[in-house]
Amino acid sequence: MPNRVALYPGSFDPITLGHMDLIKRAARIFPRLIVAVATNNAKSCLFSVEERLDMLRSHTRDWPNVEVAHFSGLTVDFAREVGAVAIIRGLRVISDFEFELSMAINNEKLNPNIDTVLLTPSEPYLYLSSGLVKELASYGGPVSHYVTPEVETLLRERLG
Ligand code: ADP
Repeated sequence: MPNRVALYPGSFDPITLGHMDLIKRAARIFPRLIVAVATNNAKSCLFSVEERLDMLRSHTRDWPNVEVAHFSGLTVDFAREVGAVAIIRGLRVISDFEFELSMAINNEKLNPNIDTVLLTPSEPYLYLSSGLVKELASYGGPVSHYVTPEVETLLRERLG
């Protein structure tokens, strides 16, 4: 099946090394990966959709089989639109499990042809989230273990 496409949706506000770890893994498994900023959830974001797309583009340019997109609406609908057979999500510590499992079950009900693939990052990223990075950066704390220098600069500019 040479054209198997996977969709990795998320807020990516901002992209962290944890997200990149997952992108690397998914891009190894699937011949084509679409990383997409989902703009429909209720989260209020620090970075605009365009800024998050720019970050994703510059952080994925070394992977030839990775594309960047954005969508609003149901993830399964966008997945079907782009011909994805799988939705990639991340599993970190226990707290992710319930949320990701319920999303996977719901998406399965909405479209049984699309599978959810839950990937686990390397150990250093197990407790890492965009929220943690933003909180640390807002207090001037160190984030260089969690994001690239490019994202660190953007965070410092935005959060002072
Ligand atoms: P969302 O608002 O959709 O949760 P996020 O950008 O916070 O958007 O996360 C997108 C996906 O990436 C989620 O499945 C989340 O579990 C996963 N993810 C985020 N950070 C990490 C990490 N450090 N390691 C593994 N998966 C992660």
